[in-house]
Amino acid sequence: MSTDLVATLASTERSGAAAPVALPMLVDGGWAAAADGAVFDSYEPRTGRVWATLPRSSAADVDRAVTAARRALNGEWSRISAADRARILIRIAGVVDSHREELAVIESRDNGKPLREVRAEIDAIVRYFEYFAGVCQTVLGETHPQAASAFTYTRREPVGVVGAIVPWNSPLLMLAWKLSPALAGGNTIVLKPAEETSVSTIAFAHLVADVGLPDGVFNVVTGIGEQAGAALVAHPRVDKIAFTGSTEVGRQIAATAAADLKLVTFELGGKSPTIVFADADLDAAVHRTAYGIFSAAGQTCQAASRILVQDRVHDEFLDRFAALARRIRVGDPLAEGTQMGAQISAQHRDKIADYVESGRKDGATLVCGGTPPTDPALADGYYFTPTILDDVDNSMRMMREEIFGPVTGVMTFTDEADALAKANDTEYGLAGSVWTRDVTRAHRVAAGIEAGLIWINTTRTINHLVPFGGYKQSGYGREGGLQVMEHYTRVKSVWVDMHDELPNWYADS
Ligand code: NAD
Repeated sequence: MSTDLVATLASTERSGAAAPVALPMLVDGGWAAAADGAVFDSYEPRTGRVWATLPRSSAADVDRAVTAARRALNGEWSRISAADRARILIRIAGVVDSHREELAVIESRDNGKPLREVRAEIDAIVRYFEYFAGVCQTVLGETHPQAASAFTYTRREPVGVVGAIVPWNSPLLMLAWKLSPALAGGNTIVLKPAEETSVSTIAFAHLVADVGLPDGVFNVVTGIGEQAGAALVAHPRVDKIAFTGSTEVGRQIAATAAADLKLVTFELGGKSPTIVFADADLDAAVHRTAYGIFSAAGQTCQAASRILVQDRVHDEFLDRFAALARRIRVGDPLAEGTQMGAQISAQHRDKIADYVESGRKDGATLVCGGTPPTDPALADGYYFTPTILDDVDNSMRMMREEIFGPVTGVMTFTDEADALAKANDTEYGLAGSVWTRDVTRAHRVAAGIEAGLIWINTTRTINHLVPFGGYKQSGYGREGGLQVMEHYTRVKSVWVDMHDELPNWYADS
C-alpha cells in the first residue's frame, strides 16, 4: 500500500493533466486529514501544475500531533535501548537506500532540482541515518573526580518533543538533518515541511511506516507556515524548535519561543563570500564557484552569492566564469542532461528578476543571464538563467540581501586585508570560501572570515561528519557531526552521597 503511493508519485509517465494526488499527513502512527478537512495545493515547479493536495493543518491538528509525540516520549519509546534505536535508524537508511531512485524523482518533481543533484542528496540522507545509528550508542554521560565521600555522574537525556520546521530547498535532506539526531537522542518529533514541498516528506513517511517506530514518535503536520508552523512554535508542550529557513521567520520564531523559553536552534540565510586570490588555480575556482552559486538553481543557503576577485585576475576570472555560466543547461529537472532545474515558484522567480533589476539600477553591470530562458518548452515552469553581475559593491541591495536564486555579484579587492573587510561586510555568517595556493594565507583568511563554515580551494561541500551552522544572522546551533547531539540531549547531574555517616550540619544546635 505505502510503496504503491510512492510508485505513483515517482511515475514520470503521469502526465501533467492527471488529477492531483490527495495525500494525508502522519499523526500518531496513522494517516490523517486536517480536522476541518482543509487542504492546499502543491505545484510542480518544472511544469507549474498542481500535482498533489495536502492537509492544511490548524492549531487543533498540531495539538493532536504534539499530544501524540508527548505520549510516545513517555511510553514505549522511552524504554527502547539506544542499541534498538540504532537498529531503527539503520532500517530507515536501508529503506531510503532501496527506494533511492523513486525518492529522487519525487524530490525532483516536488522541488525542481535536477535528478543529478537530488540523487546526491539521497546518498547523503542514507549517510546521515547510518551515522546517527552509530552516534546513538556513543551518547555518554560522565563522572567527576570527587572526594571519596561523593559520587557524581551526568546522564544525557532526550530534550523531549522536538518541533522541526524545514524549508523547501532541500526538503528530504533537511528532514534527515533533524530526524536522525532527534531519534538518536531518544526524542519524539513533529515535523512541518514547507508548504511548497511537502510531497516528498509524505512519501518518506510512507516508506518508514514499517521500520519499528512506535506510534507518535515521528509525526508530519502539513500546512502553511503562519498557521501550522506558528502553532507548533507556540505550543507549550513542545520542548525544542529546530528551524531551518529565512532569517526573517527565524526572528519571529525566536520572539515566540522566548515566551516559554523553548530551546531553539536556527539554520538561517546566508550571503557567503568567495575570495579568489591571483595565485589560485583559476580553472578550479571558476568551475567550483559556478557550482557554488548555480547548483540548486541558486536556492541554497550556502550559495556563493558574493564573489571577490583580486584585481589583477578579475578580467580573466570573469571571462571564464561567464563562459561557463552561459553553457549551463537549464531545463526540465527530470531530463538526465539537465544541469540546472527550476525555481520553486513563479513568485520567487519574479523576486529574483527584481533583484537583478535593482542591481542594474544601483550601477552593477549585467554580464550574463538576468531573465527566464527563452525555450518555449520551459515557458510553464519557473525557470531562470544563470546570472552574473559585475562592478557590484556591498552597499547594493542585491549584495546585502539573500536572493536565493542563480544570481551572483563580482567585485574586486586589492590585498588580503581589503578582501577580509569586504567579505565580512555582511549581516550573515553562514559560509565562505578562499582560493589560493599560499598555504599560510589560506589558513589566515579561513580564520579571518566571520562564518561558521569555511572552504579552502573548494565550495559547497558538507557531510554528516562535520558540524554545520552559522555565525551572526545566519543562526545558532549546529547540525551534523557529534556537536548536534548537544542540541538533542540535555544534561542531568546526579549526586550520590558516599559518607559512612552523613555529616549533620545542625549537630551543634
Ligand atoms: P521560510 O523561512 O519562508 O520558511 C521555512 C519554513 O518555515 C517553512 O516550513 C514555512 O512554512 C515555515 N514558516 C513560515 N512562517 C512561519 C512562522 N511564522 N512560524 C513558523 N513557521 C513558519 O524559508 P523558505 O523560503 O522556505 O526557505 C528559504 C530560506 O531557508 C532561505 O533563507 C535559506 O537561506 C534558508 N535555509 C537555510 C539553511 C541553513 O542550513 N542555514 C538551509 C536551507 C535553507
